[in-house]
Amino acid sequence: MSMELVFLGTGAAYPSPYRSASALVLRTEGDCWLFDCGEGTQTQLMRSHLKAGRITKIFITHLHGDHMFGLPGLLCTLSLNCSTTAGKEQQPVHIYGPAGLRKFLRVSLELSNSQLLFPYIVHEFVPTADQSPTEGMIDSVKTECDGELHPQEQEGRTIYLDPEEKCYTLLENEQFVVKAFRLYHRIPSFGFTVQERERPGRLNVEKLKELGVRPGPAYGKLKNGESVVLENGVTVHSADVVQTSIPGRKVCILGDCSGLIDDAVQRLCWEADVLVHEATLDDTQKDKALEHGHSTPSMAADFANSCQAKQLVLNHFSQRYKPSSLLKDDDENNIMEMKLQAASVFKGNEVIIAEDFLSVGVPIKKKS
Ligand SMILES: [Zn+2]
Ligand SMILES: [Zn+2]
Repeated sequence: MSMELVFLGTGAAYPSPYRSASALVLRTEGDCWLFDCGEGTQTQLMRSHLKAGRITKIFITHLHGDHMFGLPGLLCTLSLNCSTTAGKEQQPVHIYGPAGLRKFLRVSLELSNSQLLFPYIVHEFVPTADQSPTEGMIDSVKTECDGELHPQEQEGRTIYLDPEEKCYTLLENEQFVVKAFRLYHRIPSFGFTVQERERPGRLNVEKLKELGVRPGPAYGKLKNGESVVLENGVTVHSADVVQTSIPGRKVCILGDCSGLIDDAVQRLCWEADVLVHEATLDDTQKDKALEHGHSTPSMAADFANSCQAKQLVLNHFSQRYKPSSLLKDDDENNIMEMKLQAASVFKGNEVIIAEDFLSVGVPIKKKS
C-alpha cells in the first residue's frame, strides 16, 4: 500500500502567499487523513493533487487559530461537493482534537446556519494541567458542550490520558493504530503517532501443494504459526510455508511545542519512519522560540535523535523564512540555514524542509 505525506500549509501564525497555515495530509490508497486545518486549507487542497472528498478523518493538534480556523469552511465545502445517492447512507467524518473543538465547531456551524450533507463526529481528548503555562489552560466550563447536537453531529467520545501508557488511544482498525501524546506549548498541544500494523506473511501455496497439505483448517493453523502433522506422519512447520511478515510503518506528526511532558513521547515515536516536527525559528533565535512555546531546527533534531527517527521533516516556519525557490542571495532569514542546523545534529537519514505541496513518500519496509 502506498503512503505519502502531502504538506498543504507550512507557515506559522497566519497564511501568506508563500506558506499557507498549518495542514498536511497522510494519504493512503483511497483515504486521506488531514492533520490540522489552518485558514486556507480548502484552497490548498484544490491546488493539490488530492481529492478533498477522500478526507475521512481529521486530527487537530491544538486550538490555536492557525491550526483550525479552516475547519468549518472546509466541512461546508466538502458538503457542497458531496454526491448524495438516494438510499446510500453517507459515512461520518471523524474529527479528533483537544477539548473545546466540539464546541468551536458546533457554534460555528450553528451560528452560520450551516447544514452538512454528511454526519460528523468530534472525539475530544482532555489535556492535563502541565501542558502549558497557567494562562494557557482553558477552563473546562468554557470547553464543555452541553445542549443539543448540531443536526448532522453524532455523539463523539471524550478520551482521557491513559495513566500507564501516558497517551490517548484514538483509533484502532485493521490497518492502523493512532495515538495522541502530550506536548508543551502556550496552550495544550498534542502530537500523533500513526502506526501501521504488521502485515502477516502469505502462505506459500505452491509449497503447500508440494508437501501435500490440503486447503482447510491446516492452512489456518500454519498461518497462525502452528505446526501440522499430515496423515503420512510428516510434520509441516509454519516457518516452512509462511512467508516473512512485513513490518508496519510509523509516521509521527507533532503539533507546536517547545518541549515534552514526559518520556512516553520517545517511546511512542520510537524508530519513526517519518517524524514531522515544528521549527518555527532558527537556532540563533532559540530564546525567542522558547518564549513563544516553539522549537528550533536543532531542538527538533535532538528530539528526533532521542527516538531514533529515520527521517526528520521540519515544518511550521515563521513567515520570515521564504521557500528556498524564492530565496535571494542577501536574504537574512535563510531556510537552508535551518536545514543545515538540523542536519548537523540529526543522526538519521535525512532532514527535509517542508514546503507547501511537498510530498514525502513513506516506503514499504523490508520484510522482518
Ligand atoms: Zn502554530
Ligand atoms: Zn500554536
